[in-house]
Amino acid sequence: MITDVFWSEQLSPKSGLPISEQLPSSVDVAIVGSGYTGLSCARVLANAGMSVAVLDQNSIGSGASSRNGGMATPGLKQDIFKIKKVYGMKYAQEFWKSSVDAIDLIDAIIKEDKIECDWERNGHCSLAFKQSHFDGFSEYADWLEKEMGHNKLIVPKGKIREEIGTDSYYGGLSDELSGGLQPAKYVHGLAKAVADRGVVLCEHTRVDAVIENNGAFILKTKKGDLATKKVVIATNGYTDLMVPGLKPKVFSVGSYILVSEPLPLDLQNKLSPKRRMFYDSKWFINYFRLTSDGRMLWGGRNDLSTNLDLDESAAILKDEVCTIFPELHDYNFTHSWTGKLGITFDLMPHIGEINGIHYALGYGGHGLSIATYLGTELGLLMTGQKDRSPYQEISHQTMFFYRKNPWFLPFAAKYFRFLDWIS
Ligand SMILES: Cc1cc2nc3c(=O)[nH]c(=O)nc-3n(C[C@H](O)[C@H](O)[C@H](O)COP(=O)(O)OP(=O)(O)OC[C@H]3O[C@@H](n4cnc5c(N)ncnc54)[C@H](O)[C@@H]3O)c2cc1C
Repeated sequence: MITDVFWSEQLSPKSGLPISEQLPSSVDVAIVGSGYTGLSCARVLANAGMSVAVLDQNSIGSGASSRNGGMATPGLKQDIFKIKKVYGMKYAQEFWKSSVDAIDLIDAIIKEDKIECDWERNGHCSLAFKQSHFDGFSEYADWLEKEMGHNKLIVPKGKIREEIGTDSYYGGLSDELSGGLQPAKYVHGLAKAVADRGVVLCEHTRVDAVIENNGAFILKTKKGDLATKKVVIATNGYTDLMVPGLKPKVFSVGSYILVSEPLPLDLQNKLSPKRRMFYDSKWFINYFRLTSDGRMLWGGRNDLSTNLDLDESAAILKDEVCTIFPELHDYNFTHSWTGKLGITFDLMPHIGEINGIHYALGYGGHGLSIATYLGTELGLLMTGQKDRSPYQEISHQTMFFYRKNPWFLPFAAKYFRFLDWIS
């Protein structure tokens, strides 16, 4: 089993990026983290004529942005009914619309910057794991149409084979707006696009501290200091203690992926006739799709930890995927890897500021589109091209019992398994 990220193997040559070996001495904005958030923000700032450096502790794009399932679907991690209950209908409509706009934004960026990343808008289908889950789909679809103006199509069990080659699910809900791409190619393309606009890319440059200096900042790294007027923290699930007060606002959850060898075309057409993105309705969600070269990509959260052994993860995920698609027993699974999601306690993404330092984070499993969107939104706010964002207006709470280590995750994992059992 190869425990490197399959997507990154497809980058050729990865070294096409102009990486700066040295830190500039000063910039207008220094961005910490080179995933979708940091690079999308850099894109807007550079377009507005600012000098920008993006720093990453590892290679460019090596966080969740090159490790994910590549599925862009409408909605946020938090349930839209709950969003309406907490923030009211106006905000719910604004958040929903932004999640749809976020997919269109990916589309626009890919077109404008000519990023080759296998982007296809073939839609997605969410799958009812239990009859009770399917029973809730109608009310949800009707409400979305009435209140959000968004159409989803109910797929009864009798028609599910039009969407997916299994009878394991009790029905589905399909959505034509969604899309899929090759995430490592996308983040690599974003990095290339910002470098072309003059942004300095520094990899293997960990920021150890951010020091306030007369209304500006100094970033401390082993390669030296970087003076900057403004700082953006775009570290999401990889956030550590660099900025006091930030870590308690986000915690990391592991997500794991298993990929098969390329499957014969007739089997691909049987398993996914419309080349949809899929996820199921469990608390312990599984998400899956075919890659553009016809492999089955199967993802799950395992035990929520970020350090499960990757062979153990592969065994668990293989068991799951072969339960749904027994014919896959006959094929090899070649790659098993993991990455870290950033989760907030209210399950909402946030844009914020701590002591003059800007941040955007907390996308759950929706960061492909939402991180692109919030990075862009943050750039627009910082350059005065926008004067508000709903993601900035909602309060961003932490919990008194969490400062550094998410000790509660094993308990949460047990609770979610219980919910999957009783729901
Ligand atoms: C396995 C997996 C599957 C997923 N599937 C999907 C999916 O199908 N669809 C979807 O929408 N979302 C998915 N996601 C979520 C999505 O990938 C993330 O939300 C998104 O990539 C976050 O982007 P980001 O730029 O905020 O953070 P990241 O891409 O994680 O980048 C953060 C960067 O910060 C750097 N960093 C941290 N600390 C420092 C420091 N002190 N100094 C310098 N650099 C630092 C890290 O090295 C890292 O590169 C998935 C995530 C995972 C892990």
